[in-house]
Amino acid sequence: PSVDSPPLPDSTPEIPHTTLHVPPERANATFAILCRNSDIDGVIQSVRSIEDRFNRNHGYPYVFLNEEAFDDEFKRRVSVLSSAQMEFGLIPHDHWYAPSWIDEQKAAAARQKMEEDQVIYGGSLSYRNMCRFNSGFFFRHPLLQKYRYYWRVEPWVHFHCDISSDPFLFMQNNNKSYGFTISMYEFQSTIVTLWDTVKEFARANPKTIHPDNALAFVSDDGGSNFNMCHFWSNFEIADMDFWRGETYMSFFEFLDRAGGFYYERWGDAPVHSIAASLFLPRSSIHFFEEIGYEHPPYTHCPVDKQRWLDGRCSCNPENSFDYDGYSCLRRWDSL
Ligand code: GDP
Ligand code: MN
Repeated sequence: PSVDSPPLPDSTPEIPHTTLHVPPERANATFAILCRNSDIDGVIQSVRSIEDRFNRNHGYPYVFLNEEAFDDEFKRRVSVLSSAQMEFGLIPHDHWYAPSWIDEQKAAAARQKMEEDQVIYGGSLSYRNMCRFNSGFFFRHPLLQKYRYYWRVEPWVHFHCDISSDPFLFMQNNNKSYGFTISMYEFQSTIVTLWDTVKEFARANPKTIHPDNALAFVSDDGGSNFNMCHFWSNFEIADMDFWRGETYMSFFEFLDRAGGFYYERWGDAPVHSIAASLFLPRSSIHFFEEIGYEHPPYTHCPVDKQRWLDGRCSCNPENSFDYDGYSCLRRWDSL
């Protein structure tokens, strides 16, 4: 025998094969939860839901991120919910607060105007920080650096069906980069100059546009105008290597320089969706029909009868948002 191989024992104990615990194969993936200490109740509810319907069989880790330190109470009450690894991270100052080139007076005036116009979150600075962070920074956080895929989870969401096949492995094995469950229209008043900025970027960087893109999901006229369709980003299962790549990084940088995260209220959902639709092949964007998901007030529920039965779903397929007048799934189907 070679000196490298350890001696084999004469006999190994007889273990009935049914008691052998074979951990399921796992992708290089994590849950990513951005939240505040005050979100504790909603976070507990969401983690319980994803554990119950999926992760108790997989043990994928969690990364919690916050621009303020998580307190001991938060960590204690969340850690008890799963034996999976949980890490609690602080967001670097410059990844959260407005960059130096933002004119704070101009930004404050925009917030005031949008507040008066009753635009949702129009008056909020923290919401803008959050949208910019989710657009361009979360995937660079040291705690997320080691992972490729993430599943975004927010407080107060529900997973309504057993998730029997691993969505992370599905992404990995089928070359998917972006997965969604719900799509809808954006409020025009939050993204007034976003599409013009996107077009400017595309003109300056024509090679970034994928030949088999999903432009028709976000534009009805070949790119002249944005039709407001976007994937609802409170649920995302995606490949961070896409966000980390040169194309998306330069796209984000371009948008960030334009200032619309602060002078308007650009959301991470339209930013991610437009990027995925332009820079990825359509085939690498995936609709997770089998994942019953609710972020109040909207629910996606599997409409396929067998799927609903097999998943022991707690949602009502008749209330699924899929073909609601405000949903963009019809457009997705017709691509
Ligand atoms: P909505 O879904 O658009 O109504 O926005 P949410 O209030 O759910 O916020 C989106 C996500 O960002 C959630 O995961 C929140 O917990 C998180 N979030 C929002 N604002 C802040 C903030 O100021 N600090 C932190 N740490 N997380 C935030
Ligand atoms: Mn939310």
